[in-house]
Amino acid sequence: MEPRATTARVKQSAAPGSKVVAVDRPLAVVVGNPNAGKTTLFNQLTGQNARVGNYPGVTVERRVGVIRFDGETRTGHDEPLSVELVDVPGAYSLSARSAEEQIALLAVLGFEENPRPDLAVVVLDAGQLIRNLYLALQLIELEVPVVLALNMIDEVSDDPPSPEAVGALFGVPCVATNARKGAGIAELRSAIYAALRDRARGRVAVDYPAPLRQDLDALVSALPAAWRSSAGRDRALALWSLASIEADDELSGIEPGLRERVLAVREAAGSRDLEEEIILSRYRFLDQHAPSLYAQVERRPPKRRASDRVDRILLHPVLGFLIFIGVMLVVFQSLFTWADPAISLIEDTFSWVSTLLMAHLPAGVVRDLLIQGVIGGVGNVVVFLPQILLLFLFIGILEDSGYMARVAYLMDRIMKALGLHGRAFVPMLSGFACAVPAVLATRTMERRRDRLLTMMVVPLMTCSARLPVYTLVIGALFPPTKVFGWVPVQGLMMIGMYLFSVIVTLVVAGVLGKTAIKGRRVPLILELPPYRLPGVRTTLRMMWERSTTFLREAGTIILACTIVLWALLSFPRLPETGAATAAASPAAAIVAGGSAPDQPTPEAAADEARALAHSYAGRLGHLIEPALAPLGFDWKIGVGLIGAFAAREVFVSTMGLVYGVGKVDADQATPLRERIRAETRADGAPVYRPVVGLSLMVFFALACQCMSTLAVVKRETRSWRWPAFMFGYMTALAWFASFLVYQGGRLLGF
Ligand code: GDP
Ligand code: MG
Repeated sequence: MEPRATTARVKQSAAPGSKVVAVDRPLAVVVGNPNAGKTTLFNQLTGQNARVGNYPGVTVERRVGVIRFDGETRTGHDEPLSVELVDVPGAYSLSARSAEEQIALLAVLGFEENPRPDLAVVVLDAGQLIRNLYLALQLIELEVPVVLALNMIDEVSDDPPSPEAVGALFGVPCVATNARKGAGIAELRSAIYAALRDRARGRVAVDYPAPLRQDLDALVSALPAAWRSSAGRDRALALWSLASIEADDELSGIEPGLRERVLAVREAAGSRDLEEEIILSRYRFLDQHAPSLYAQVERRPPKRRASDRVDRILLHPVLGFLIFIGVMLVVFQSLFTWADPAISLIEDTFSWVSTLLMAHLPAGVVRDLLIQGVIGGVGNVVVFLPQILLLFLFIGILEDSGYMARVAYLMDRIMKALGLHGRAFVPMLSGFACAVPAVLATRTMERRRDRLLTMMVVPLMTCSARLPVYTLVIGALFPPTKVFGWVPVQGLMMIGMYLFSVIVTLVVAGVLGKTAIKGRRVPLILELPPYRLPGVRTTLRMMWERSTTFLREAGTIILACTIVLWALLSFPRLPETGAATAAASPAAAIVAGGSAPDQPTPEAAADEARALAHSYAGRLGHLIEPALAPLGFDWKIGVGLIGAFAAREVFVSTMGLVYGVGKVDADQATPLRERIRAETRADGAPVYRPVVGLSLMVFFALACQCMSTLAVVKRETRSWRWPAFMFGYMTALAWFASFLVYQGGRLLGF
């Protein structure tokens, strides 16, 4: 952990095969709490010449720029001409609760493949000084050289903290800035220059309780030799690791030996909460010194009064709640209805391109692969964009304005009872529209555990793709009669399915939160930032970043799955149809996001049904029939379930093909409804009785039949473990629930 004035890093120059050039340039990181103004300050310091890359091994964006010191007066040769500056993700502390915080931690301490920085520019929000100073304190305890930027100084005009006093607290330079207006930037540059030249480090002496100090002494001996450089740092690192190791931690910066020691010390502490002791000691230190940091010593830290007045309305138990419901209705409505025209446009465009290619390319496997596999697969990916863009537009506005923190505050009591975070509300609500944007929306949560838990249950919400399936089944199998003369049975069934999904989601969240995704109790910092006008550029940028990563990473998986499904449904072909027929595999066309070819003649429809039965998917349907029989399903439903993996609503069209009724639109499924009612077993008994329909709907409500959801969970967790877990538990749950419904129904004589 020895710091160096300059970090020699090796860069590959652009031309392949050319020589490797060593660049000797110091490295500085911009760190601070989320929303402290890091990125704005970074842009001010580096101008517009930032390069964008990724952190090693992960897909979080890493923004790098350069500050050139051309104006500074030089006194010797050993002085920096320029410094490389990296914009690190926001973090409240070095305890690494969220993925972003983990990356920040690794980047600041120079762990794993990150080069160790020579300087940390800590951006402080002057209006939330104490909480912001917490991170600075941790860094100075770790002897990282620090320059403080006291940002947003314009927002605390009535009693601003004094930069001299803030700097004096730790013995480090501190400059007041307004990153938005560019005030104080030149001074900050000079301070960075001087800090790199002088290599000075701050100091801080938090008064930790005696028992805690003893625990730390026990840990110091377990530190890796490379870390044992000075007494102060030993203690600091031990403190840091005590407060940051979680049982399921994947931080490879921590040596296994140290991890075991930390866990042993924690065990020995019994009921004492070491993390809390550490945190409280640090805050006690900051609180003690806080009054001296403000320009007028006798006054309390300034409040942001306008925000407080607004909060009196927005957090009001009745009025605030009504406004909250209104805001959430708008978000929900947008995903459900406003996205629709764009989705239709995308679908129409893709089917237009397919038709065009169909007419101009020679018939054959290559054409089918191109149209149904590739173009259809791309369509399956792009079709999510309207909802993702809209959701992130709203999340951007909600986050940037400060309202998202209020949502968390309002919902926290209810959500906490279920083991969920208050911020899980927006993703869960979005789950009613589609799980894919909902999973992406879990990014607003800071803790990895909160995110994971929400991600694992969001696909249980009744997404809009389940609606066509419910509509078909209810329409076909339940009578359009009314109970009590006015309550329609079919409508009641639909409401029942929605209620069912909400209850199951909450119960599963409660169970998973206590078992598979257990979390250590963490003191929740629920912070209410002041209201601000949302920045248009930040929001647009976030929408852009989220959509492009989705397209690039989840998109490739969805595309690959579509091609696999296409192959399953298209091969092997019936000998007599072969490649020559016009619509060689309509099932594949549907799975690939297009629509089936126009209404075929009855003979052609029967051909299609035979071709489908002959395909791998058809055989697979037969293969899984024994597993489905106890649920009341036959192999034809099995084929439908396989097709539904592309997207649940595809079930309807696949069933249309299985039963040879040709093209089926979800809202105009009359022929298919009739056909389903008429379907009989060998003994003449109807295949579909209401209890089979109920079993089928329960299966659809609980099973994870959505490759896009799995793809996006893989992308967000960066491992196959969690999508596999999700698929496993949901399928098992679906099977058992359907089993109970069907067998129970049979016992009762339905
Ligand atoms: P980050 O999350 O730390 O990267 O924060 P950003 O740089 O994205 O800034 C968050 C918001 O604060 C944006 O809307 C900025 O325009 C705004 N902002 C940044 N610095 C200042 C400042 O000094 N004064 C004011 N009033 N707003 C600022
Ligand atoms: Mg930023």
